[in-house]
Formats: sequence, structure tokens, C-alpha cells
Amino acid sequence: MRISKSPWLLHYDGSSCNGCDIEVLAATTPRFDVERFGIINTGNPRHADIFLCTGGINSQNKDVVRQIYDQMPDPKVVLACGICACDGGIFKDCYNISGGTDTVIPVDVYVPGCAVRPEALIDGVVKALKILDDKADRMKRGEYKSLTSEEYAAKLSGEKKDDREEKGDA
Ligand code: SF4
Repeated sequence: MRISKSPWLLHYDGSSCNGCDIEVLAATTPRFDVERFGIINTGNPRHADIFLCTGGINSQNKDVVRQIYDQMPDPKVVLACGICACDGGIFKDCYNISGGTDTVIPVDVYVPGCAVRPEALIDGVVKALKILDDKADRMKRGEYKSLTSEEYAAKLSGEKKDDREEKGDA
């Protein structure tokens, strides 16, 4: 796999139990050493290429997740790490949880697990790097632009409407 630049990674903890966050730490520190792929941690969305989310989406963090995503420059990739980020996990039926990361922004790679294993996380990051490179190539050819969170919300509500029409509920 060709990696044309050091990808910068931003980790955001949505409403996790912190189990996955500890594994993210393990993956990004010398024991599992995700830095061997040239990955650097950043706290600044404007410098980030990879958005790594743990925990589900709730009414408090949904706008924060959208904002971070929108502030990241193109091309960018989103990883949902842990089953809570994939689909809400054990918190799915809580009164204020809307589900996983893809309820507010598009997700490129899903890494399930409870907690997510560092090896699975590193595997997910490697997949994300390939997707990032593909997006960069398509952008250069003028064939790709990522959706904004607003465009994504409109796409989701269109899909829901289509589903209702198919079922005859609309
Ligand atoms: S997937 Fe498991 S370990 Fe990770 S945040 Fe959810 S409950 Fe915690």
C-alpha cells in the first residue's frame, strides 16, 4: 500500500464507557504502536485526516461530532471504533442515544468489539489509510468531494422517506 503522507488522527470519545478509549490509547502508544504507519495524533480537526470515534451519539454530542467532521479538510476518513460507535451498542436503547456515529456523519470503516481490540483497531486504521489514498486520487481527478454533515443528514432523511414509501407508510 502506498501512503503519500503521514495521516493525522483525531480521536473523539462520544458517550463511551471509556473501555474503547483505553484500547485506543494502547494502540497509539509503544506497545501496539500505530505510529509505525506514520500516524500522528492531533487535537485539531483542521489538521486531521482520520476521525476516530468511540461511543454512541447522544443529544449532547451530535453537534460536536458534526462540527469536528465538517472542520476536517478533504480528503478525510471516519472510523467507528467499538460496537457503541458502530450502532449504539449496549447504550442503544437509552433515552438520549440516537445510535452509532453514522447517525450523524458518514462512516468509512466499522471496527466492532466491546471493547475494541487494539489489533482490530490497527487493522481498521490500515483500511482507512487505503480509503484515504483512494479518495485523494479521486479528488485529484475531480471525481470526489465528501458530503458535509448537512448533506449527509439530507441524504439520510431521503433514504428514510424512500423506506417509508416502499413499506407504504409515507
Ligand atoms: S463498545 Fe464496549 S467498551 Fe467500547 S464504549 Fe461501548 S461499552 Fe464501552
